[in-house]
Amino acid sequence: MDCRLCGASAADFLAGDAVYAECPECGYVGIEQGRIPTPEAEERRYRLHRNSYEDERYTSWIAEYLDAVAEYLPPGATVLDFGSGPQPVPAMLLRERGCAVSVYDPYFAPGDAWRNARWDAILVHEVAEHLADPRAVFTELAALLSPGGALCVRTRFPPEGREAFSRWRYRMDETHVGFFAARSLERLGSRLGLRTALLEDPDRAVLVRRT
Ligand SMILES: [Zn+2]
Repeated sequence: MDCRLCGASAADFLAGDAVYAECPECGYVGIEQGRIPTPEAEERRYRLHRNSYEDERYTSWIAEYLDAVAEYLPPGATVLDFGSGPQPVPAMLLRERGCAVSVYDPYFAPGDAWRNARWDAILVHEVAEHLADPRAVFTELAALLSPGGALCVRTRFPPEGREAFSRWRYRMDETHVGFFAARSLERLGSRLGLRTALLEDPDRAVLVRRT
């Protein structure tokens, strides 16, 4: 099947009981189309997520990421938390840090106003792995960045090797339908006119719009 991120022809392989395709060009690993959950199933699953502001471990796990990318999310920046989920904890923490944050989520914070704004930063925190059409989404988000604006991404990079991939717990969440290698993000960025400003294991990248 073709890579949903760059369109190259990708080789199929089996992991668990699902077929995936690993792209030889960009390294993106996508699950077979038939395993992508319907929007209804996806929403049902998200409603079971129990991430909350009161959960200290969860909050500090997010804060650790925000610290790592802090220079791209300075106080006063306009930030879109894209795919904010049922409990927009990253948005709350960014507001505490002085950012002007808006949230968008197709299920929990719908609306189109964010599409008419330009953003100093767009946060895509644990969202990229859920996207059925990652190319379309990232193309749209890149176009909404102000010049010099930053796309801050958090998504786990897949382990090397089929065996390790097969055992990888992150793969087993049924709403995780595609996995970005570090080079997937780098290549995606360069196609969209974004410079890779930060790329760090196990899960973080910042792509900055050139002009
Ligand atoms: Zn690809």
